[in-house]
Amino acid sequence: MRKFVLVLSLLSLIACTEGPKKEQLQIVCTTGMLADAAKQLTLGIDSIQLITLMGPGTDPHLYKASQADVLALSRADLIVYNGLHLEGKMNDLFKKLPAQKTYAAADGVAEEDLINASDYPGAYDPHLWFDLSLWAQLVDSLGERLAILLPEQSGKIRTNTKNYQQRLLETHKWAKTKLLQIPENQRVLITAHDAFKYFGRAYSVEVRGLQGISTTAEYGIADISALADFIAQRKIKAVFIENSVDPRAIQAVIEAVESRGEELKLGGELYSDALGGSDGPAANFLGMFRYNVQTIYQSLKQ
Ligand SMILES: [Zn+2]
Repeated sequence: MRKFVLVLSLLSLIACTEGPKKEQLQIVCTTGMLADAAKQLTLGIDSIQLITLMGPGTDPHLYKASQADVLALSRADLIVYNGLHLEGKMNDLFKKLPAQKTYAAADGVAEEDLINASDYPGAYDPHLWFDLSLWAQLVDSLGERLAILLPEQSGKIRTNTKNYQQRLLETHKWAKTKLLQIPENQRVLITAHDAFKYFGRAYSVEVRGLQGISTTAEYGIADISALADFIAQRKIKAVFIENSVDPRAIQAVIEAVESRGEELKLGGELYSDALGGSDGPAANFLGMFRYNVQTIYQSLKQ
């Protein structure tokens, strides 16, 4: 009964709300990283409207669609989501939407390049945006999908795609060089959840997270203690909080290391699973990525 009322109220919402201009196609993206990619690939095209569901600092693992989101999804001409269970609480909703208008961006990355999710057998790690060479692959396929949606603009989309890929790959090279300047024994990235495995593999950084690849995983005192032992032994100088994850877990790690008589500082806040606000350094994806690399470099270099 409750479902029926919800459907009725949604239908009346659709009927009452003034929709977009008829000629504009609606592209709904789940994360800010994907929305920024779609924006870069459709530069100079005004026949589309881009809608981002998850705002700055939003945790995609825990995100549940609001009524307004359901409405936006029902109206969308194309829905771009990350896939690989990143949007874990929205999977059922995606399954109910027509397959021809949903697009899992992760499908654009070759399977052999994916990292297994060690805590979820048979699944892959969804945090693809942190290896820019993979993100460039994903952007290529996204460009092809957008060209199908907007065939008369396909030339422009392909040019935009090439330009954006080039910027991604230049930043990829820069990050590699920059991070290799950190001494190897200090090149260890410790964060609350395991968002940085692709980053670690691509940029030769050892990665440790307190939680698994999803923030839905629990962690306990034993996990904090094991991580604190590792940090104390290796004399790691800094750990990092994430903009989309509760900072208390990392604060507990710092206290545990200090209780072992070692010093550990907070290296800063990294943008892990979401962009930052429009007035900050992580307003767009490449800004977010560069900010993370600079922050890690500044805190871990000798
Ligand atoms: Zn994550």
